[in-house]
Amino acid sequence: MKRTIGILALQGDFAEHRAAVERLGHEVVEVRLPSDLDRIDGLIIPGGESTTIGKLLVDFSLLEPLRVRVNAGLPVFGTCAGAIVLARDIGGLAQPLIGVMDIVIKRNAFGRQLQSFEANVDVPVLGSPPMHAIFIRAPAIEQVGPRAEVIARMADGTIVAARQGNLIATAFHPELTGDDRLHRYWLSLPPP
Ligand code: GLN
Repeated sequence: MKRTIGILALQGDFAEHRAAVERLGHEVVEVRLPSDLDRIDGLIIPGGESTTIGKLLVDFSLLEPLRVRVNAGLPVFGTCAGAIVLARDIGGLAQPLIGVMDIVIKRNAFGRQLQSFEANVDVPVLGSPPMHAIFIRAPAIEQVGPRAEVIARMADGTIVAARQGNLIATAFHPELTGDDRLHRYWLSLPPP
């Protein structure tokens, strides 16, 4: 069924997400205003800079209405900076978060020498092959609380994707490789 998917378009790589959603046959709305939220059946929060995205969510009066919609069941897919703003805790750092996922995230977890890297990541819900994952100043998911579950780990055990109902957070950028399986999986999750 064709859905209308919002892509938060305040900052970051929203154009790549737009292309992935359109390849899957859905309609896209770029979300910048609170009224845009009324038209969407799901929301993608792209990678970028989480402090900037958080600040703009406040400046554009989107943070609170978004939290209300997510708590009412709006499906959300957050990649990298998008995953950070979904987390309930980012190690006590003070920056605006939607904060709806029961995960603890560490920003820039891979340090300076590994600011950007690529790795094959096994995502069991997608079967094989593994996803070719691009990490750009990526966070890591340090803890997954009882309301959420791990959906992908690196070979060393680091958690890089989690799910809570129809919310998905990934530390990497599935929108950059043309592999739409994770977008398709998120779109297939049942409503709450
Ligand atoms: N390091 C960025 C942050 O903390 C995230 C990077 C990204 O989205 N690629 O917001």
